[in-house]
Amino acid sequence: MPALSLLRQGNPLANAEHQRDVLERDNQSGIPSFQSTLAVHGIVPLKSGQLTSLQVNVGKLCNQTCRHCHVDAGPDRRELMTKENFLHCLRLLSESTIETVDITGGAPEMNPLFEWFVSEVHRLGRHVIDRCNLTILTAPGFTHLPQFLADHHVEVIASLPCYLEENCDAQRGDGVFQKSIEALKLLNGLGYGRENPELKLSLVYNPIGPALPPNQQKLEQSYRDQLRQRFGIEFNHLYTITNMPISRFLDDLLQTGRYDEYMTLLVNSFNRNSVQSLMCRSTISIDWQGNLFDCDFNQMLNLPLVDTLPRSVSNVRIADIEDRPISVGRHCYGCTAGAGSSCTGSLVPG
Ligand code: SF4
Ligand code: SF4
Repeated sequence: MPALSLLRQGNPLANAEHQRDVLERDNQSGIPSFQSTLAVHGIVPLKSGQLTSLQVNVGKLCNQTCRHCHVDAGPDRRELMTKENFLHCLRLLSESTIETVDITGGAPEMNPLFEWFVSEVHRLGRHVIDRCNLTILTAPGFTHLPQFLADHHVEVIASLPCYLEENCDAQRGDGVFQKSIEALKLLNGLGYGRENPELKLSLVYNPIGPALPPNQQKLEQSYRDQLRQRFGIEFNHLYTITNMPISRFLDDLLQTGRYDEYMTLLVNSFNRNSVQSLMCRSTISIDWQGNLFDCDFNQMLNLPLVDTLPRSVSNVRIADIEDRPISVGRHCYGCTAGAGSSCTGSLVPG
């Protein structure tokens, strides 16, 4: 089956093969390597510092199939982190001073061990982030979750790509906007998104097409005004995130003939000031099988840590992965364009 067809089914080998095709194309079309751009700015090798965040991808199972999804997640995916790997994550955490465990998926709540893992991390006194798609909180079998999250002071970071129903549903599927509003009201009702610093609720915006996100601060104000006036909803922060040219979004770019245009935009918008705060410098990412990566995006591309480093959470020590050189590729331009981008929004004032 051609790589593109397999890619849409989330086949990891097809993803790697497909990415090689794209790399070849980049070499021919003259898009500079990310490494060479860093070198021009005197930033090689790109290295991490002390780790503050452990990002754990607990599986690819999701109740949605969004157009931009860089995980290729969906209801048919069966990849889920096992208890053994969760225990390795807890061991690494307990040996470190890492403050935050950032749990992602898929819809992370659909991993049957999600609640147990959150409870264990909470018991270790570390902060938990749940990357939540909101609709899962009203799905049958999951409606107890908002109270569970509140009881464990879990920060909820939720996707809401637009405050307009039509735009949101175009990207995330029919009916998603209304269900998201319902979930946000539930969370607000439990105290999320208001003054209580232990019940943080933040929203994530990403552009619908191949464009950079607008100014984060201004957009946050627009979201606040719209959601407050129309639905009485409150939240703490809005994070704008650039669409990465990988996985399902890459597929979309190639099919619509906009890949070169988007890469050119990212390359021309390189912002040296964003490099200091790149999330790979303070994060380690772990996939559902326990493999280590510099970030969630490298994980999706199966781009491992550099050769000399351990590859699995089962045998890694924290000293191995602090101050480590970082594996980069052309997709990294998605993190350094404009105001920069990370899982917690822009990196420099826009
Ligand atoms: S909700 Fe998130 S993980 Fe699920 S398909 Fe959408 S973007 Fe992917
Ligand atoms: S994709 Fe972004 S976070 Fe990941 S290694 Fe590249 S620059 Fe760092």
